[in-house]
Amino acid sequence: MTFAVAIDGPAGAGKSTIAKRVAKKLNAIYVDTGAMYRAMALFLIRNSVDGSDEEAVSNMIEQAEVSIRFENGEQLVMLNGENVNGFIRTEEVGNMASACSVYPKVRMKLLDLQRDLARKNNVVMDGRDIGTHVLPDANPKIFLTASAKVRAKRRYDELVAKGETPDLFRIEKDIIERDQRDMYREIAPLKQAEDAILVDSSALTIEEVEEKIVALVRETM
Ligand code: C5P
Repeated sequence: MTFAVAIDGPAGAGKSTIAKRVAKKLNAIYVDTGAMYRAMALFLIRNSVDGSDEEAVSNMIEQAEVSIRFENGEQLVMLNGENVNGFIRTEEVGNMASACSVYPKVRMKLLDLQRDLARKNNVVMDGRDIGTHVLPDANPKIFLTASAKVRAKRRYDELVAKGETPDLFRIEKDIIERDQRDMYREIAPLKQAEDAILVDSSALTIEEVEEKIVALVRETM
């Protein structure tokens, strides 16, 4: 019997940082589904596809094979056999991922991969639709959120730490736009599952959020 913990929430809520730490504590693998959408997005950008053209996107992704490998506990996202981890963490790729993830063909292509990983492994999986759609039997389901201002500041700090010179106002605007697109798309929108537990990380440290979630998981198990 495997177990699955679902962590959903908007961009920049701290899902990946938290999910990674919780997975380590539980001896489970951390599955970052956003990275899979980002790999698809990278493929589209590299092929100069217009993200607003559903037909062009749907046709082009037939040539994209996304898979996952784990090395020393870290998830590597493979795009047609190439490890693309180093290319997918840019705002450009994030915005394209958000634009192309509204299309059914893109979502269908990644759904099987995500479910298969959860069938074979104990997982902590993060994304937007894990509790509502990908793994409806996950237990517990966490909906991790924070205010748009706090999330924008966190992204900003991350980029500055990488040596970039981002524009805070622009990041907040992009985050709000991405939330809107993720929440109002037709298929598998970003939404708190009815049986998910809401955790607002705006005023909490990473350690506090981790503690809270690990306690919730232990209670459930
Ligand atoms: O979480 P991350 O910012 O890496 O995700 C990039 C984009 O991929 C999100 O804005 C969202 O549109 C899409 N996504 C999704 N469903 C998921 C994970 C990510 O639609 N399960």
